[in-house]
Amino acid sequence: MAAVEDAARLVIKIGSALLVDRGTGGLRADWLEALADDVARLRARGTDVILVSSGSIAMGRGMLGLPRTELTLEQSQAAAAVGQIRLAGAYGAALARHGLIAAQVLVTLEDSTDRRRYLNARATLEQLLKLGAVPIVNENDTVATDEIRYGDNDRLAAQVAATAGADQLILLSDVDGFYSGNPAQDASATRFDVIEAITPEIEAMAGDAGSGLSKGGMKTKLMAARTAMAAGCDMVITEGSCLRPVQALEQGAPCTWFRAMGTPQQKRKAWIGGMKPKGRLHVDAGAVRAMGRGSSLLPAGLARVEGRFGRGDPVEIVAPDGAVLGLGLCRYNAVDAGMIKGLRSEAIEPVLGYPARAALVHRDDMAF
Ligand code: GLU
Repeated sequence: MAAVEDAARLVIKIGSALLVDRGTGGLRADWLEALADDVARLRARGTDVILVSSGSIAMGRGMLGLPRTELTLEQSQAAAAVGQIRLAGAYGAALARHGLIAAQVLVTLEDSTDRRRYLNARATLEQLLKLGAVPIVNENDTVATDEIRYGDNDRLAAQVAATAGADQLILLSDVDGFYSGNPAQDASATRFDVIEAITPEIEAMAGDAGSGLSKGGMKTKLMAARTAMAAGCDMVITEGSCLRPVQALEQGAPCTWFRAMGTPQQKRKAWIGGMKPKGRLHVDAGAVRAMGRGSSLLPAGLARVEGRFGRGDPVEIVAPDGAVLGLGLCRYNAVDAGMIKGLRSEAIEPVLGYPARAALVHRDDMAF
């Protein structure tokens, strides 16, 4: 059975209904304070924590005096712009009480569908976590229009978990798990403790009622589970309205776990290994030895570039004897890679005119 205590990197999704009082439209400050206690406890234990928080629209709506009825897209975008400042400020203050630094990260759907942007988002999250900050992620609702947006933070959170290589995702929701029917209408509906695979039967059980403030229903939660599981990340749905909901989960609060098969690292390598290469990097014997010890491929070890590829594209890595060692995502395009072959890191910037990335192919982006 999965346990939150085992998480190395945890993404926690916070729905609007938990953070914003439905009656007043104001922030539920006591809840946020207690969540910050949860986060501080996790960080003290050495767990990386990323929060994906909704609430910008719900909060901005109240501040702007917008109606309670369905908002137009333009009104939602304006509300998000106003609410997001308040939201980020509130997280910043709550975490600062524990000596933690909050970082605001606003993303759009294209940041996960475009591989270059996906790699940038991944690198930024990695850097923030390395520096000990707590990323607070939301969709950039102010610029995302209907055709190009997630619209719900369940799927966004799963994508963030996949991007960051998280091993667990907690959806703090207004329901305590996944039921065989809608518990509000069907007294015989039962909650699943664990779901190992999302079968057509499971899909048929998902109704789609949101809670009024939040966008996601059970269908979007299942979609999120699919994304998380495919990325090697366990996902859990639990009711989040109590103070310190993560602690409550650890102490046995009702929930439903969606179990991933494999780890984020295995899934990522399988994903990369299944790509069609766009070019080849011929490397020298020193690079072959270094990669054998688990190092990244550096420009210094590159002998020749073949093919036309962009930054982030998959390439084959080829040894001096012609053997294909594996596949990797190249952090430079073919032209720039050709210009820096054989160069040591400090010699790169004068040649390219922009600061160098240490690795040509990072070891996390290789599949052998
Ligand atoms: N991004 C939206 C917000 O912050 C929320 C989407 C959702 O409720 O899932 O208001």
